[in-house]
Amino acid sequence: MTFAVQLLKDVPEAPAGAARPHVKPRAEEGRGRVLACAVCLQAVTTSAARIEVSGAHEHRFTNPHGLQFHIGCFSTAAGCTASSEPSTFFTWFPGYSWQVEVCSRCAAHLGWLFRSTDHRFHGLILDRLVDLEPGR
Ligand SMILES: [Zn+2]
Repeated sequence: MTFAVQLLKDVPEAPAGAARPHVKPRAEEGRGRVLACAVCLQAVTTSAARIEVSGAHEHRFTNPHGLQFHIGCFSTAAGCTASSEPSTFFTWFPGYSWQVEVCSRCAAHLGWLFRSTDHRFHGLILDRLVDLEPGR
């Protein structure tokens, strides 16, 4: 049994219609600003694709190797490619599996694709993205 499954079983049943974790879009005008791979500057996602998961857009996590990551949650990330098989080992979002995501141009590690039975989002490492239109 994985850690994630154990966590889920410890949580009481959510009321009908309640999403867990809570997901909502963030207010942003228009298409937002392009966020690109910090290595090769390929467009990865936009500021308008930011969402909140479990009550926040940004999360700080430590992986089993002790490495810390500061990630942001995004509904889409067209510039990423999943590069591993789905896993639930040490998942940061209970109920979600994860896959490593890399830049589809230069293969830099940009974050993870998180998937549950009815939802998916991208957790992208914020300091590996650059804003191509700062100050707009
Ligand atoms: Zn890249």
